[in-house]
Amino acid sequence: MEMETTSQNTPVNFYGMSLPDLQKFLKGLGKEQFRAQQLFKWVYEQRVTDPAMMSNLSKDFRAELGNLLSFELPRVISHLISVDGTQKFLFDMKNCNTVEAVLIPSDDRLTLCVSSEVGCNIACKFCFTGKQKLKRRLTAEEIVGQFMQAHDRLKDGQRISNIVFMGMGEPLDNSDAVFKSIDVLHTQWGMNFSRRKVTVSTAGIVPEMWKVGAAKARLAVSLNGSNDEIRSQVMPINKKYPLAELLKACRQHYETTGDKITFEYVLLKGVTDSLEDADRLVKLTRSVPCKINIIPFNEHPGSGFERPSDETVAAFHQRLMDRGAHVLLRRTMGRDIFAACGQLTSEFENKPQLMDISNSKIGGISRVRDFGRRQLGL
Ligand code: SAH
Repeated sequence: MEMETTSQNTPVNFYGMSLPDLQKFLKGLGKEQFRAQQLFKWVYEQRVTDPAMMSNLSKDFRAELGNLLSFELPRVISHLISVDGTQKFLFDMKNCNTVEAVLIPSDDRLTLCVSSEVGCNIACKFCFTGKQKLKRRLTAEEIVGQFMQAHDRLKDGQRISNIVFMGMGEPLDNSDAVFKSIDVLHTQWGMNFSRRKVTVSTAGIVPEMWKVGAAKARLAVSLNGSNDEIRSQVMPINKKYPLAELLKACRQHYETTGDKITFEYVLLKGVTDSLEDADRLVKLTRSVPCKINIIPFNEHPGSGFERPSDETVAAFHQRLMDRGAHVLLRRTMGRDIFAACGQLTSEFENKPQLMDISNSKIGGISRVRDFGRRQLGL
């Protein structure tokens, strides 16, 4: 990380720095390195970001800090809460760029699904985000910022237990920032977030996949096709990195980490949902220790795809189990606030549902906070 701060006197954003980054930064300013730990404790443990309150730092250092570091988080433009408890945050990433993050409760987990890019270049045919060209990659501080904003709104006693990079964007198209954000959140004097509780989901950028294992994070791979022909049809990236290469990288991940891979498989009516698909899927993934997450397609306007019937989904699920696969049927969460898989975008224009909900008192929403759209021109 390059930190040419002082020449311009622009404060560096604290949330983009790992402990070694901050130590190096302070050293460059002639400060003691243990100050870095103190700062981490104030900011992440105490959630104190006003240097004036950091009582174990010298007065002079406190006075300087404001010019050296910024503790700015991406602004929350709207915060929607679904009837099922799912929460969706819309963040202002400046210059009319916005991204979303989703907090998903379940019996024993509270999972935060974060975004890694504004828009996405992978262009999977069924994905809402994929319809927007990549506008820009997020920085590490913007990824950590999504976490901190959600964290700061938790109820007493709650904590985020898992992070999944399954929001907007392709995390392995933005590896540096993604893995930096994992380092930052993992820091002992910071959030101390376990790397084992972080899952990086990829559309299959094969040459980057080893980095997930190197970061000791979990790997999820969006398969979404049971052979090359079907997969290339719904995920053009398959032409560049076909199934044989993708599965080889998955096997390598298992061999180096000992961790099972999660395969995500979206059920698209008439495209990926036949029993033959189920059989091929089992064969295809047999050589990789894995579990398969099946996700019935979440519809969005103009997608050209349909969600299969519940019976078809159940039959597909059963067939995988009969063939001995370890399979999970993902429950659709947060549909009323347009927060389900593949429904995230940063363009309001294409989201009639969200507009309707925020402008009216639809029963499904238990609480809506929505401000600042006008300033953004949205
Ligand atoms: N780019 C990464 C992470 C974002 S997508 C990836 O491809 O893995 C997260 C998951 O949502 C992927 O498995 C994707 O296949 C799935 N998905 C995308 N659009 C969907 C939709 N409309 N309905 C259901 N799942 C969808």
